[in-house]
Amino acid sequence: MDMLNDPALATFRGEVRAFLDTRLPHELRDAAWRATSVFIDPAVTLPWQRILNARGWAAPDWPAEFGGPGWDEMQRYVFAAECARAGAPGLAPMGLKMVAPVIMHYGTPEQRAHYLPRILSGEDYWCQGFSEPGAGSDLAALQLRAVPDGDDYVLNGSKIWTTHAHFANRMFALVRTSNEGRPQAGISFLLLDMATPGITVEPIRTLAGNHEFNQVFFDDVRVPQANRLGGENEGWSVAKHLLTFERGGKYAPALIARLERLRAQQSADPLLRARLDREVVSLQALQALELKAMRGVGGSAALYASALKILGTEAAQRIDILACDIAGFAAWADADGQTPAELAVAVPRYLNDRAASIYAGSNEIQRDLIARLMLG
Ligand SMILES: Cc1cc2nc3c(=O)[nH]c(=O)nc-3n(C[C@H](O)[C@H](O)[C@H](O)COP(=O)(O)OP(=O)(O)OC[C@H]3O[C@@H](n4cnc5c(N)ncnc54)[C@H](O)[C@@H]3O)c2cc1C
Repeated sequence: MDMLNDPALATFRGEVRAFLDTRLPHELRDAAWRATSVFIDPAVTLPWQRILNARGWAAPDWPAEFGGPGWDEMQRYVFAAECARAGAPGLAPMGLKMVAPVIMHYGTPEQRAHYLPRILSGEDYWCQGFSEPGAGSDLAALQLRAVPDGDDYVLNGSKIWTTHAHFANRMFALVRTSNEGRPQAGISFLLLDMATPGITVEPIRTLAGNHEFNQVFFDDVRVPQANRLGGENEGWSVAKHLLTFERGGKYAPALIARLERLRAQQSADPLLRARLDREVVSLQALQALELKAMRGVGGSAALYASALKILGTEAAQRIDILACDIAGFAAWADADGQTPAELAVAVPRYLNDRAASIYAGSNEIQRDLIARLMLG
């Protein structure tokens, strides 16, 4: 906490606050407050991404050479905290946070030059084609077949739980290019155009009633081999690299901002107040760990990513329960339409966040990964 309040950051913080005060449209902020999922509708996130991009701030974590603002880790953290405090919509992670770093790392100069500017501007909206009906936790069991044919691969099979595939014009996908050796050794990583003939997107509705994810079917879909990222049968390394970005990062800024809004709604109930105070402490610890992870102190990126994923998602689920308890009856019926957004959406958020300990690899799997990384 002290590090974030360093006077050297005060000018930067002031600049960010001034920008948010003047450039964050109220209707986008209100829509973000009422959102019930971390995957906010692109009708809300893309306009905000364009505003940020015009200022050069759409991708705070990207290196300057690819279009990032060139901030150090403390500035990036302060920016995230200020955006959360102001109620700015969280941008879709699939492009900016997940596929972009692996394009930077494994991409050819042509792939970088083509895709990265389109991710920044929002022209390309990505979805993630990893999971299959028979390959979730055991991701290496994936079977979507990609058979070389001339300059192309021909794809047959399906992907499932594909978040926002119904909005996306691009997918990054793991495909099977060989059945030789270990399952991990026959996987390649492809970048797809969702308008390619033979791709069908079928909606799946969640228990909460939302259409957020889909099953995507591939029926003789031709993808140029030039769209492969990394070598043939070397996609597992690309996927593991991507997963550290998907799981790691900054959970605390949005949770701290949410907790502060809940504290502002809280009555004098001493038991609720004590639970809120406990979460303040747990989020400060999470924030300290995130700052350590950004500096790469004391552990590998994969270790931090798994630890942060568990701690961040479990904190979110505890805060969901607190929000429901504070809201009480208002969580079920906003009778007069006057209930603050934070409480009016408490129940759908609680339901939606049950998925947080499953997606990006379940928390049981993260515990297993930590044990393997620490114990060998
Ligand atoms: C909201 C949501 C969005 C998603 N979005 C995407 C997406 O955009 N793209 C994508 O590719 N995937 C997506 N997923 C899929 C997600 O990655 C998988 O659901 C996840 O990896 C778990 O796989 P599974 O559902 O097949 O569960 P399973 O693998 O069948 O696991 C079932 C249960 O068994 C436990 N388990 C399994 N193996 C072990 C083990 N070895 N040790 C201990 N426990 C174990 C798991 O923890 C889990 O509790 C999404 C999922 C959700 C819920």
